[in-house]
Amino acid sequence: MRAAVFEQAGRPLAIRDVPTPEPGPGELLIRVHRCGICGTDLHMTDAHSCFNPASGAIIGHEFAGEVVALGEGTHGSWKEGDRLAALPYIGCGHCLPCLAGDPTQCATARSQPSGEASGGYAEYSAVSAMNSVKLSSGLSWEEGAFVEPIAVGIHAVAKAAMHVGAKLLIIGAGPVGLAVAACAKLGGAQTIVVAARTDRRADLAVTMGADAFMIADEKLGENFARLAGGAPEIVVECAGAPGMMDLAAGLAAPRGRVVMAGACLQTETFLPIVATMKELTYQFAVCYTRQEFALAEKLIAGRRIDPMPMFDGTVSLDELPARFEELRTDKQACKVMLTP
Ligand SMILES: [Zn+2]
Ligand SMILES: [Zn+2]
Repeated sequence: MRAAVFEQAGRPLAIRDVPTPEPGPGELLIRVHRCGICGTDLHMTDAHSCFNPASGAIIGHEFAGEVVALGEGTHGSWKEGDRLAALPYIGCGHCLPCLAGDPTQCATARSQPSGEASGGYAEYSAVSAMNSVKLSSGLSWEEGAFVEPIAVGIHAVAKAAMHVGAKLLIIGAGPVGLAVAACAKLGGAQTIVVAARTDRRADLAVTMGADAFMIADEKLGENFARLAGGAPEIVVECAGAPGMMDLAAGLAAPRGRVVMAGACLQTETFLPIVATMKELTYQFAVCYTRQEFALAEKLIAGRRIDPMPMFDGTVSLDELPARFEELRTDKQACKVMLTP
């Protein structure tokens, strides 16, 4: 099959002919129809990242595809032609986290985000059958590939332990921040503000569910309080950059909760006293559970969440390496997808 292969940090992905993955026991081989390009993919292939995939890895974890071959033990519930989105984790299938639908915490899981399992920047990918969700017939391939990022939003809101009527501040207007806005709105937040350093996503943030967009400058706390009548009870950090723990501490209401949903790959310095005096709770969040992933599919299929305003077109496999490099500096595009 043809795939975009990570060879070395600082070099573009390379289009190569590689062996098509074999679906192992409990796995399904899918023809990838769409795979979203994620900021995490850009960060971890960056020369300055503290984590790079192994040379030869095929990354890409926001995919939807069609079953073309079935591994041992999957015939009862799957057949060729089934359309699915899959959690990008292949767990052992029998430990407690795997059985609970939480394969990100399986000690032996291979994951597509890290490139340990063959990911979606390719014509084919092998996925875990127990961690796959069938796509409703009305769902487009693009909507199918949005199940993963929407599931990230559901998980972050779950980790926020949000009550109906909460005042919520989201830092970062990338797809994660916007997915959190959409899910928080559905969850009954009273005030949702998305804040970022530039206003290029201001309209999109409101379209996705925010009450307002605000520039993340020194006036942010003041501006938030003016709109919401007080400080945010919940701050969801979706920028994944150093300095966010301090920023959130300064902005959050006393006894508030800070959800760290951005994946920061650099050392963070943090002055604890501000958080101490407010008795803040910091909660880190990664990915989603199988149940949250299935819920994301249902919310999109049921038209409760429309992710398509975030969609910024597709690229072919041959176009991917150049577009991937462009996206490191092109801050305008929100979600570009590969059609391999
Ligand atoms: Zn992602
Ligand atoms: Zn396991």
